[in-house]
Amino acid sequence: MNENFAGIRKTIDHCVACTACMAACPVMRALQDYRGPKLIAPAHGRLHFSQDDFDRSLEFCSNCKSCDRACPNGVSVSNLNMQQRGKFFESHKHSQRDKILAHIESAGKKIRTIPFGHQAANWGSSVGKILGISEKIGITAKRPLPIYARKNFKTLFKSIHQQKSDRKIVFYPGCYINENDPDVGIALIRVMNANGIEVLIDENFRCCGSPLISTGFMNESRLLAENNSARIQDWKSKNIPVVAACTTCSLVLKSELAEIFGDDRFANNNVFDAFEFLETIDLNLNLASVPKRILYHVPCHLKSQGIGLPAREILSEIPDLKIELADAGCCGLSGNFGYKKELYDVSMKIGRELFDRILSSDADEVMSECGPCRMQIQHGTNREPMHPLEILAGAYLPN
Ligand code: SF4
Ligand code: SF4
Repeated sequence: MNENFAGIRKTIDHCVACTACMAACPVMRALQDYRGPKLIAPAHGRLHFSQDDFDRSLEFCSNCKSCDRACPNGVSVSNLNMQQRGKFFESHKHSQRDKILAHIESAGKKIRTIPFGHQAANWGSSVGKILGISEKIGITAKRPLPIYARKNFKTLFKSIHQQKSDRKIVFYPGCYINENDPDVGIALIRVMNANGIEVLIDENFRCCGSPLISTGFMNESRLLAENNSARIQDWKSKNIPVVAACTTCSLVLKSELAEIFGDDRFANNNVFDAFEFLETIDLNLNLASVPKRILYHVPCHLKSQGIGLPAREILSEIPDLKIELADAGCCGLSGNFGYKKELYDVSMKIGRELFDRILSSDADEVMSECGPCRMQIQHGTNREPMHPLEILAGAYLPN
């Protein structure tokens, strides 16, 4: 076991109670009942999380990781929170709601086995909202559930013709791009092909595990980590990188599971965010002019990867394109956090600064790499944000 990862519980003792994490926590700003990162991970962690009155506070952490980035002493606050949430559920039952929110991959798979299953599922979520069923089980009816695409990415992929190439990547679409937003995957293929790179997919990859981690299903997320890390290592042995276009997927696959489980087999240096990967190649700069102003919301889970803003760097190569950072904090959705009935208002309060920034901007487009961020922006502003890959794909001149 790697000491770097074995030791996140040891980081508790690095806490000097400076409160920087509390100032950075968006949930704490929006919800008075939340006792905040300092009091749950390091302080309560020293007591081995033995006081029951902290259980409620553990529910409030959205796993946005703003606290980790603010901490000057490297306390692994968010992962300690997730570790502890998992421990809580070793002796407590999950609600039906949490089971549904955690298992989006298996729900998607079932839906695709039924003819017109995507229509039935989309219709079922609307009817469920109207009849109040979703609210009864604790899922808010105030926001739309993600819409299933007519065909998922993996199905569309089979009909896409690509030139064979010695330069290959494996694309990891994750659940959201695969089931709900396959256009992002199509844009990635277009960008990679324009750079002479052939895109493969690996049907044996599973969900990254983020929805399971944030709802405390630790045993199941460990099984996914075992599977996915073995797949990543297999591709590494063939010298083929694995590229994700969702910043939560890439963060989880790179390091989050390794830290939570203290197991360096789950630390993967063969995984790249799409734009991080594009920065490593000799990029095709035969790009058409895109005379637009783009407002860019940087996802929390990209900031946590410490790789800078590779999408901004690369899109800056597009003639006449101007990018402005929204710089307005967390969007507030944080995976399944904002779908919980009791946390919907908190989620929207957190997103208010970003919504106001977007609503007062006259930018032509809004963009963000994270699917949940894009859903929250659409819900809070009625604007339909793009993934930066869609903007780059649109700038590649036809051959
Ligand atoms: S992960 Fe986000 S919500 Fe959780 S304690 Fe840290 S800053 Fe607060
Ligand atoms: S920022 Fe780090 S050192 Fe400061 S209170 Fe939070 S966990 Fe402790």
